[in-house]
Amino acid sequence: MTFLEVKNLTKVYETGFFKSKPVVAVDNISFTVNEGEIVSLVGESGSGKTTTARIILRLLNPTSGEITLNGKSIWDIPKREYWKMVQGVFQDPYSSFNPTPFYKVDRLLKMPFKLLGTKPDIETISHALLSIGLDPKDVLGKYPHELSGGQRQRILIARCLIVRPKLLLADEPTSMLDASTRATVLNLLKNLKKEMKMSIIFITHDIGQAFYISDRMIVMYKGKIVEQGPVEKVIFEPEHPYTKRLVKDVPKLYEKWEDLYIESK
Ligand code: ADP
Ligand code: MG
Repeated sequence: MTFLEVKNLTKVYETGFFKSKPVVAVDNISFTVNEGEIVSLVGESGSGKTTTARIILRLLNPTSGEITLNGKSIWDIPKREYWKMVQGVFQDPYSSFNPTPFYKVDRLLKMPFKLLGTKPDIETISHALLSIGLDPKDVLGKYPHELSGGQRQRILIARCLIVRPKLLLADEPTSMLDASTRATVLNLLKNLKKEMKMSIIFITHDIGQAFYISDRMIVMYKGKIVEQGPVEKVIFEPEHPYTKRLVKDVPKLYEKWEDLYIESK
């Protein structure tokens, strides 16, 4: 069943003096995300992936286009209700902690309960931390700057898990992580899909990770979608020249992810 539908979405950033240099960051893209499906958005830097994610998260307004969740325009849903259903993890965990860099981790992890309107519950917090491989005793009393990049990234994922959204936007969530933590996070996302039927939009420039994690793949190039389809189809029968270039490296990447891939199928 279609959960999220993006239709003819366009974002033009007006830059330069007197808006003299508009940048078309997202150019008339359309796609859907089904319930309990992982869709990856793949493309090189500057292709419009983050802009798309920020619009879906309602952190940025589009220039034009429609987005519906369960058939309802997302802009008709109160923000608080919307953010209970749709959450995001971004690539730069430092800026994501703004404006709260002076909160200790335990206070950061109590914030989602405000959104949910329930009392902070240490068991839920500990469970979320353990599920991404962090020991609550090690991190709860610390400030973000006392943690490694990988730990900070995982705290942000834990914060999302507490909300238990129906849709998670993960924008390069593994870019700061070492290989083994990366595998932990990818497998965690797969589990969320399987056990909670969570829908996930996974954004990456690494087609190997996209191949490993997603059901469907959307390839973006210069703000446009150049190709989309089931992962196997896009990887093994690419049609667009840009996709063909991207998947050239897949046999190598496949080797890298093969163990994990086989384990999870
Ligand atoms: P990606 O996440 O795929 O790297 P982005 O969505 O960040 O792509 O960027 C798409 C394009 O929009 C790029 O050309 C980028 O320079 C431009 N862009 C992004 N944010 C802004 C902004 N706030 N103002 C002006 N241009 C922007
Ligand atoms: Mg980006």
